[in-house]
Order: sequence, then structure tokens, then C-alpha cells
Amino acid sequence: MGRLEQLRDPSSWWRRAVVLVRRFRQEPGTANLRRFAPLVEAVLRERAALHELDDEALSERAGRTANTDLADDGDLVGHLAVASEVARRRLGMEPFEVQLLAAVSMLRGRVVDMETGEGKTLVGFLVAAGLAVTGRRVHVLSANDYLAGRDAHAGASLFAAFGLSCAAVVDGMDHADRRAAYRSDVVYATVHQVGFDLLRDRQRFEDAQRLVPDLDAAVIDEIDAVLLDDAMVPLVIAGDGEPRPEEASLAGVVAAMTAGVDYEVDGERRNVSFNEAGIAALEEHLGVDDLYAKDHVGLLTAAHVALHAHALMECDVHYIVAEGQVRLVNDARGRVADRQRWPDGLHAAIERKEGLEVTAPAEVLDQMLVETVARGYRVVTGMSGTALDASVRLAEDLDLRTGAIPTNRPGIRVDEPDRLYLTAEQRDAAAADRVRAAHAAGQPVLIGTASVADSERFAGLLAGRGVAAVVLNAKNDAAEAGIIARAGEHAAVTVSTQMAGRGVDIRLAPRAVAAGGLLVLGLGRYDSARLDHQLRGRAGRQGDPGRSVYYTSLDDDVVTEHLVINMDPRTVDADGRIRDKRFRRIYEHAQRVAEGKLLQLHRTTRRYHTATDQHRRLQLDTRERLLTDPAALEDHLAHVWTAGSDQPHRWTRPDRRRLATEVALYHLDRAWTRHLHLLAEVREGIHLRVLGRQDPLDEFNLIATDDFRRLAQAAAAATRHTLDAASEDATTLADLGLRRPSSTWTYMVADNPFGSEADRFFEFIGQALRGSQPPAISYT
Ligand code: ADP
Ligand code: MG
Repeated sequence: MGRLEQLRDPSSWWRRAVVLVRRFRQEPGTANLRRFAPLVEAVLRERAALHELDDEALSERAGRTANTDLADDGDLVGHLAVASEVARRRLGMEPFEVQLLAAVSMLRGRVVDMETGEGKTLVGFLVAAGLAVTGRRVHVLSANDYLAGRDAHAGASLFAAFGLSCAAVVDGMDHADRRAAYRSDVVYATVHQVGFDLLRDRQRFEDAQRLVPDLDAAVIDEIDAVLLDDAMVPLVIAGDGEPRPEEASLAGVVAAMTAGVDYEVDGERRNVSFNEAGIAALEEHLGVDDLYAKDHVGLLTAAHVALHAHALMECDVHYIVAEGQVRLVNDARGRVADRQRWPDGLHAAIERKEGLEVTAPAEVLDQMLVETVARGYRVVTGMSGTALDASVRLAEDLDLRTGAIPTNRPGIRVDEPDRLYLTAEQRDAAAADRVRAAHAAGQPVLIGTASVADSERFAGLLAGRGVAAVVLNAKNDAAEAGIIARAGEHAAVTVSTQMAGRGVDIRLAPRAVAAGGLLVLGLGRYDSARLDHQLRGRAGRQGDPGRSVYYTSLDDDVVTEHLVINMDPRTVDADGRIRDKRFRRIYEHAQRVAEGKLLQLHRTTRRYHTATDQHRRLQLDTRERLLTDPAALEDHLAHVWTAGSDQPHRWTRPDRRRLATEVALYHLDRAWTRHLHLLAEVREGIHLRVLGRQDPLDEFNLIATDDFRRLAQAAAAATRHTLDAASEDATTLADLGLRRPSSTWTYMVADNPFGSEADRFFEFIGQALRGSQPPAISYT
């Protein structure tokens, strides 16, 4: 597989050198795909000859490529020619030349940048089949469950021609179905599904329960979304933990507090702090003298979390309440987020505030980042309409090189320059007028907004102008897909958040083509130019006519959060439109600042996870060996028998052996859970130590490594202790008084919209942790 092999250690010196050289040559992370053109021509020639074969002879040819490694160019060409002909016959689509170029490039280890609507799904089939015929187990990672199901279904007959099985793993499947699906040659799933199943696997007590076989090859659709946008999302598996009664009672006290009396909210509504009266009320309620004493840090933190939930978190803005549950509104995606929770205490505090049943206190059993899942594959490739925008990061973080695939037909989409307004109100009014005019002319319009609330507000403005818009705020991807697919109909007006309905093709009706094709209108740009580009890509697919334009204002979050503008525009139209040329690049500027901040945040997050990831691998190795390797089990138990005592032990009898193994696993898992808990506490505490000028990361790693070193020994000693105390007739963990979580659930930890608890703690004690001020823009 040549360069397709393995994501390398991100810190290796030569890779950094390579990245530097490429950057020097001003082509960071990019690959020139022209070198593959001769292979594509060879495929075209060879597949023309296959037209003549009958189906049976073609199947026979398909069988022939099995278990060749495709490292040889001739084998690769042969395989793609057959796959191409199979696609023509079974799927009714003959891959275009550019699709073949994409497939060759991906099978040779490159990531490809291919515009929206150019047929990446079909490319995915060709590549997945190419990897699977060589004997690899392939995961095609889709953007959501709906697309995973759709694509697995659509590709099945092509895979079958090669004797390959194919299945999707989606929500709602039970353990047995998942297990079976993962045993297919080609598996369609989201990276989250795979990550959650890996976490479940690590909790199992019998090897036969294992869901996911070793990760092998991944073909990642919308690769920048997975490896950049979602990379740092922690996937968590939790079990029910011990109740924490003091939190409930604190919530009661805080709920009765009043702004300006017991606490103060800052001007931007980002921070809140108790004042003296508030602290006195808490101290009285808790019966403590000084809530700031070291011993009460836990209580103080819980009180702040409760206050935060009470004073800052707003129903229908940060979350909604549906079916008795708090469901998060994801800011970045502007929609209700599935399976997301805030960090534990905050989530419970909001449930209390809304008078809902508080979900059992969760105990985090294990967690890992989305990026860690992706890095677990031996081979990774991928595709996206905005991969080039992400090429530097893909190269630096994952050693992947990205090349551009030309469009099948020349693109004729017109990207208008931004229209910048003084205020968001003026921006919206002008945008609404534009939509009305386009609609009157029969042109379909797709409006992209930052949030569900924005969508609804804007639809209201449109209604006031007599334009009925469809608002996409569906809570499930399948329903969204149906609506977005119709966004290209004559005079259709669709308002949607950026992520909604992605991966779904928008076909233009003939009358809409005549009216100029789809108009994509963005209300405010996103934090990154890459996301802007993604939305624009909705217009002008496959050589269709189309237009895109962004209506922006100085009020937009991206601008206000990242820049301080200390000058007034000189030339402004009556409707608020800014003509002053000095403001032209303001958004680019703000986005660069935003991207820089995000990059820094990712680097920090990753650095805090590096040691833990290594420790987890070691811990899992031990666990896996206990489950699967009898000799290793003997070793471990021998170690247990000598932990704390040199007496031989009655548990060495073979018929007891099974329970002893379970006890050993139980204590190993407990030790790991405790370790994670400690790390979470230290991470918060470490931030407090920044003021003391110690390097927080060094400090963190020291504590983590030290604790991890003791972990195995502590688990062995605890195992011995349990077994010593056990009665002769014990047969289950419960008999031994050990409780495993009665249920586990998985979720993603959502970013707290107001920053981490440590951040808030700091602001509360009046120290400026946030440090850097936004850069000021002034040209005068
Ligand atoms: P992308 O993921 O790149 O945005 P899709 O895979 O959703 O694009 O494909 C867009 C549309 O193009 C789909 O309707 C698909 O059926 C069609 N299509 C893709 N490749 C071909 C082909 N070679 N011949 C005909 N139609 C194709
Ligand atoms: Mg797609």
C-alpha cells in the first residue's frame, strides 16, 4: 500500500522537516495528483474492453483480483476497471474519469479534495472495494447514521460482485446485530459509533462479547469534519455512580438567589459570581465557617456550577427540554445535539433547575477523543469538498497529503463578494430583500444560518415579505435529508443551519436552472473559511449554474469575539451597507484569529491526552491478555497471590479460576476509572497552578505517570484482598460485595458554552486567566 500505510507518530522529526519544506514551497500538505493520470487512462482502456463480457465472465474477473495487494500498478488498474464496469451494470453509474483519479489517488494514500455533488459516495465504493479485496477490513466513516445506512445499502450490490459483505452500524441496533455487522468486509458507520463500541468492548468480561475487531483501514467521508471539527470531542462511557446529596441541596439554595443581591452577572452574560450575601447564605446553609477553606473546594465548585446553571444557561438557547430530558443545542451546528451532555455536575444542575428527574450521577468509566479513534486505524484515507482548506492540519496532525480533483464539468458557480453591514438587523433586512427578489424570479434559495434560533427569526422576516420558507430544524437526519433534497425546486426557499442535511444531493429542477440555479445565501460567515466554503459548495453542483453570497455585519459573533474595531467606517449606504474598503478583509482577519485560537486549543487538548492515551493502551493490553491469553492470566494471578502475602491461596484451584479472573478485571477497571477521575481533578487543579508559574503540562504528566505506575499494583492488591475475604461458596461478583454499574451509557461531552469550570473559578476569584485580549483593528 506504499504511503497509505499507517499514520505516523506526529512528533517524528523528519515529518516535521517534510512539512516545513512543503510550507517553504508554499504547498503545505498538498499532493500533485497528475502523476496518476497514466493509471486512469489505463483503467479507461481496460474497462472499455470489459463492455463485451457477459455478467458471468465479469464476475469471474471480479473474483480474480481477490487477495492481490494492488501494490502493483497493473493489479490496481485491473481492479478499478472491473469495479468501474460493475458500477455501470449494477448501480447504473459509470465512474467519471475524475472519480477514477480520486479512487487511484486514495488507494495510493492521498486524501482527495472533491467538490460537493461530484460523486464521492461512488468513489468511496471503489476505494472500499479496492482495500477489501486485498483482505483488509474496511470502515467507511460517514457523517451521520442516515448516510451510513443509505450508502451501505446503495453499495451492497457492487461489493457483492467481489464476494464482499457490507453492512451499516447505526443507533438502535442491539449487541448481536452490531457484532454481526462489524464482521462484514466493508462497514459503514460514523466515527462516533465505532468509538462508542470500542469503549463498550473495553468493559466486557468475556472475549466472546467483543464487538469491533481490530481497526484496520478507514475511508473517511468529509474527512476534515471528522479529523478537524470533531477531533477533540471526548467520547465517554459512563456507569451509574454514587448519589451526591449535597449537590441537590445546594441547588435548592442557589435557585432562591437573586441577581444583584446574592450574585453578580457580568455585562456580557458570560460570567457570574457570588457576592458576600450569597456566600453568607451558602455558609449558613452548609453550616461551615469559611467556604473558601481548602477542605471545601468541592462544595464551592458545586455551588458555582449550580449558580452557573441558574443564572447563565437559558432554556431554548443553550438547551431545550423535550420528553422530560435536557437536550443540548449545539452552537457550532446550530441544532439539537444527539447524545451530548455537559460535564456531569452542570448537566445535573440544569436538570434540577428545570425540575426534571436528575439522571443518575454518572461515573466516567472510560473516555477517548474522536481523533484517538481515527488514529487507531492502520490505514487512513478520505475525501471532502473542503479537504484542501484543511491540508496543512491533515499533514501536520495525521501525516496525510491532500490533492485536488478537478470537477467533471467546469464549475460555473458565481461567488459574489461579501456584503458587509453595520448591524445584524440591517444585514438581515438586506438579505431578506434579496431572497424575496430571487424567489419572485423563480430561483431556489438556500439560506445558511448559525443556529436554529437564527433560522426561525429569519424565516419570520421572510414571512413578513410574503415569502414562505421551509425551516430545517428537524431533529433527525433522515427527515432533514428529505427536505434538503427538495431545496433545488422552482422558487423553493429553505432556511437551514450549516450542518443540516449534509451529504444529501440537491438536484435542480429544469425551471430552477433557467432561473439561474441555486442561490446560496449565508447569514454571517462561520469561524472558519473552510466552513463557508462548505456551504457555498451547495450551489453549482456538477456544472449547474448557481450563486453564493454572504451577508455579514460588524455585529456578527465571529467579528465581535475575535476583534476589537476602533474606527468608524467612512462610507456607509443608507441601508447600512459598508463601502469603506478598509473593512474589506475584516472577516478574513477575524477568521484567522479564530482559527489560531482553535489550533492552540487543539494542541493543548492533545498534549493533555498523549500520556493518558499511552497509559490506556498499556492498561488495555493487560486487560486483553487476561481475557484472551491463558498464560498471561496465570502470570497475573500468580502476581495477585503474592501481592501482600506469600501464602499459597485456595483460589488457585482451577474451578474457581473464572471468578478470580472476573475479580481481577473488576479491580483493574476500577483502578482505571479512579485514575481518570484523578486526572480530571488534577486538570482543573493544574489550571489553578498556572499562577504559580509551574509548567502545568509537566506537572500534569508527572502526577499522571506516577499514579499510573501504582495502578497495576493497587489493582492486584485489591484483588487479593477481595479474594481473601471471600466465602467459599461465592460464585458471582455480587456475592463478593462488588458492584459493577447496572447500566452504562455513552455520550459526547459538549463544550461548555462559557468555558471550563476552572475558567469560571478563576474569573470568580477575580484573577485574569483569559489573559490575551482580542487584537484591535485600526487603520487610522
Ligand atoms: P458528493 O458526496 O461528492 O457530494 P454524491 O456522492 O452525493 O456527491 O453524488 C452526487 C450525485 O451524483 C448523486 O445523485 C449520484 O447518484 C450522482 N453520481 C455520482 N457519480 C455518478 C456517475 N458516475 N454517473 C452518474 N451519476 C453519478
Ligand atoms: Mg457526500
